[in-house]
Amino acid sequence: MLADYHVHTAYCRHAKGSINEYIEKAIALGLNEIGFTDHLGRYYLTPSQKRKHWDWGIKDGDLPRYFDDLCTLKENYKKDIRISIGLEVDYVKGTEQTAAEIMSAYPLDYAICSVHCLPYFGWKHIFQYSDQDPLTLFTEYFSTVKDALNCGVFQVIAHMDLIWRYVPWDWENDTQMSELIRNTVQVAAKSPTIVEINANGYHWFTENNPDDNNPFAIMTEEIGKRNVLITLASDAHEPSSVGNHFTPMIKFLKKQGVHSFCTFDKKKLLKHDLNVK
Ligand SMILES: [Zn+2]
Ligand SMILES: [Zn+2]
Repeated sequence: MLADYHVHTAYCRHAKGSINEYIEKAIALGLNEIGFTDHLGRYYLTPSQKRKHWDWGIKDGDLPRYFDDLCTLKENYKKDIRISIGLEVDYVKGTEQTAAEIMSAYPLDYAICSVHCLPYFGWKHIFQYSDQDPLTLFTEYFSTVKDALNCGVFQVIAHMDLIWRYVPWDWENDTQMSELIRNTVQVAAKSPTIVEINANGYHWFTENNPDDNNPFAIMTEEIGKRNVLITLASDAHEPSSVGNHFTPMIKFLKKQGVHSFCTFDKKKLLKHDLNVK
């Protein structure tokens, strides 16, 4: 059993390819399940903020079609692969109920929540915050992630590694930085929300600094130690990226003490043994 649980579609307007191509790629790889989680539009911005800032999500008017397309494909492909239907939802403190209301109108298997934006520093994406002091940003980021973990609206927290892929590590405060990650995983262990392992985070780790002090290694070691439940995710924005890096990433996770992964069926959590296909 293997599932890629974070895949985009052209509905978000910054991903390429048809939904069928993503599914065909997953079947060719021998995956048993593919979970689509395209970005919900930036529901927490006012109309004038929406005009000023990049909306990386599905246009509001396209949301019913996103679900209709996936429901049809789920039925058409059911002999070859299971398709689950999700959304990637930005977490902004104070807007949890708005997000929950929007989602309640659709046949959702699961929702992943992401911290792409820290309102304290403005409505930009994290990759545009590089002028800020890293420790301050990390502190605000992980505090927001902890609120997201505990709010009970989402099934999965996506790519906790996003922050260190975009904001440089502050080596002078190495201990504090590492502790923020460990502490957040400890909060996840006791929260209703599970943790996504994102292949982009794994790839960044292997490319940049694959030693024991790497944040990805710190995060996954703590996940293994605390038996935190996980999903596996490529975060594919094009069909060829489905299942990216899964084989080496799974081998690495097993070394870190992670031996299972999860999927969802209408929000019901299912646990599976973690093995390389
Ligand atoms: Zn994301
Ligand atoms: Zn994504």
